[in-house]
Amino acid sequence: MSRSALVRELIRATLWAAIGALIGSRFGAIWVGVSVMLVLRLFLHLHYMASLRAWLGSPKQVALPITGGTWGEIFDGLLTLQKRNRKRKKKLAAILAEFQASTEALPDGAVVLGPNGEIVWFNAAAQALLGLRLPQDLGLRVPNLVRAPSFTEYFGKGDYSHDVEAQSALNPQVTLAFRIIPYGNGQRLMIVRDISELKRMETARRDFVANASHELRTPLTVLRGYLDVMEAESRGEGALNGWHMPLAEMRSQAARMEMLIADMLKLARLESDVVLSRQDLLDVPRMLAQSLEEAKAMSKNAHRFEFEVQADLRLFGRDTEVQSIFTNLIGNAIQYTPPGGIIRVRWWGDDKGAHFSVADTGIGIAEKDIPRVTERFYRVDVGRSRASGGTGLGLSIVKHALEHHEGKLAVDSELGVGSTFTCHFPPHRAHRGATRSEMRAQAH
Ligand code: ADP
Repeated sequence: MSRSALVRELIRATLWAAIGALIGSRFGAIWVGVSVMLVLRLFLHLHYMASLRAWLGSPKQVALPITGGTWGEIFDGLLTLQKRNRKRKKKLAAILAEFQASTEALPDGAVVLGPNGEIVWFNAAAQALLGLRLPQDLGLRVPNLVRAPSFTEYFGKGDYSHDVEAQSALNPQVTLAFRIIPYGNGQRLMIVRDISELKRMETARRDFVANASHELRTPLTVLRGYLDVMEAESRGEGALNGWHMPLAEMRSQAARMEMLIADMLKLARLESDVVLSRQDLLDVPRMLAQSLEEAKAMSKNAHRFEFEVQADLRLFGRDTEVQSIFTNLIGNAIQYTPPGGIIRVRWWGDDKGAHFSVADTGIGIAEKDIPRVTERFYRVDVGRSRASGGTGLGLSIVKHALEHHEGKLAVDSELGVGSTFTCHFPPHRAHRGATRSEMRAQAH
């Protein structure tokens, strides 16, 4: 009670006492009159207190008495507060209804998860995509619902910077993409999308490229065969005399087309299977020794080679794919380094895994082109790439082959100074020391 309210209350009590004294004085008992009036006032207070207590218990059923004075002020204040609260509640309910209506209308499934991954809320799309039931599935832990190993790993790891794909448990024809977005206090929002159509289109595109390349191979082989014979004939005195130059050009173009088709097929194959298991233990130092021989032959002694290879370091992977990483990167270094340049090839291991790098002192790549060099058919200088027999697919092949080995490509380059391409493989792919079969051979 504020000070002025207290003063007013005291004045009122004094007034009541004065009236009691006045009435009491008529009967010659002033103090009895004062006491009766003060007791009456006390009862009045007790009555209002009881009313307030009843109203607090069930404000909807009980009405507050209408009165003036301090109690009137208290009751008015409480009623204003109640009205304000009702308004706020209505506003909140409207916002919530709007939010729920908009998330219901979302084509993507949305599931709110609690701190232990339990389902707190979901929308209609999630219900349809995951086969969730209301209210039975509320409180169910999500890893118990989506049992695909890829999802379990994603959920457990806690790195939600990317999506994860998994087959639907309801329909194996349906591929779902999951994304988890952490927010608030240990809560997570899981977004589920049906990407089956996208997958089908991707597969159709890949199959088309693979089939087209495959189909082109046969007619090209026939053409190459005839061109070989005709070019040999054109050297003699026969009817083809004088056709030597055009025939040689046709042959070299046909050879280029063959290379292009071979690279396109290789890329299509790399794209179509996702091999992430550890596969064979590859003797990388031996593979690199062979690559060095090939590189020297290709460079025709125009470059100086430096090889720094950790002799006991091997890699779990697929032979052909790892070989194509080495061949493409070393081949590019030779192609884009003028004669007299140095090409440095390194293979080493540390606690971060195994690493392969090719550094050259060649023409280099401008900063703006670096992020694009792994795109299909992207060449910084189309003329130069074509002239050197490049297909524009080499680095795409490297990137895909690396992805199969959970590896990453880093490109560091400066125009006119040189480039370094580094492949980083994770630690569990690296292996130091002799293989089991070698240890067995040593034991014999
Ligand atoms: P290409 O068959 O044209 O070499 P790649 O996919 O292997 O195709 O390379 C793409 C482009 O990246 C090349 O055309 C070239 O411009 C650039 N590039 C690749 N390697 C190097 C390098 N070592 N030095 C300079 N530029 C390079």
